[in-house]
Amino acid sequence: MSEDTDLDRIGEARARILDEIGADVTLVAASKRQPEERIEAALAVGQRVFGENRVQEAQARWTERRAMVDGLRLHLIGPLQTNKSEDAVRLFDVIETLDREKLLRALIKAVAKTGAAPPDLLIQVNTGAEPQKGGVLVEALEALLELARAEWPGRVTGLMCIPPADEPAVPHFALLKKLADRYDLPVVSMGMSGDYALAARLGATHVRVGTGLFGARES
Ligand SMILES: *Cc1c(COP(=O)(O)O)cnc(C)c1O
Repeated sequence: MSEDTDLDRIGEARARILDEIGADVTLVAASKRQPEERIEAALAVGQRVFGENRVQEAQARWTERRAMVDGLRLHLIGPLQTNKSEDAVRLFDVIETLDREKLLRALIKAVAKTGAAPPDLLIQVNTGAEPQKGGVLVEALEALLELARAEWPGRVTGLMCIPPADEPAVPHFALLKKLADRYDLPVVSMGMSGDYALAARLGATHVRVGTGLFGARES
């Protein structure tokens, strides 16, 4: 597809999404496995907040580009292995997938060691209690949050969830919003291409949209 076509198509998709979510909700462009031309097109139409799933893919894409783009904000939205913590804190402004004590401690260490600016953190909540999925169980959220607040004050700003693919998302979105309110956390990251408008109505402050913005992923 030509670059002009990408530009028009992504520009129109972005305008429609922004209109649907309203001015108070941030669009995080989920850019995993998207070709470079589409990233360029998104930047050209003004997109500045991007979500990446893998540290290595994100490094390849953003490390050099970062210095050339004003106002770029990078969110890690995929699972993080502790041994990638230093690379992650060097690159990401927000890590949306904190889900265990070991990772919290690795991130604290990584910031001390690298001198990187401490990232904002969201705790990923496994609202559907799916065994294969990252995130803390709802019952374990309070303990992890209390620990994070004690060990790294001010870093955790909100919650994130990925509802089970085969269930209605509404109860999961409602639950995440309720938990965020209960613990006084302002950021709520939920909603993807199929349900971002719904998520925004149910209290999302951030929606993560990939295919609905860029088109189908490569591979
Ligand atoms: C890929 C991904 C998205 C975006 O999914 P789409 O269906 O392409 O919008 C959102 N959040 C996470 C965590 C993802 O991995």
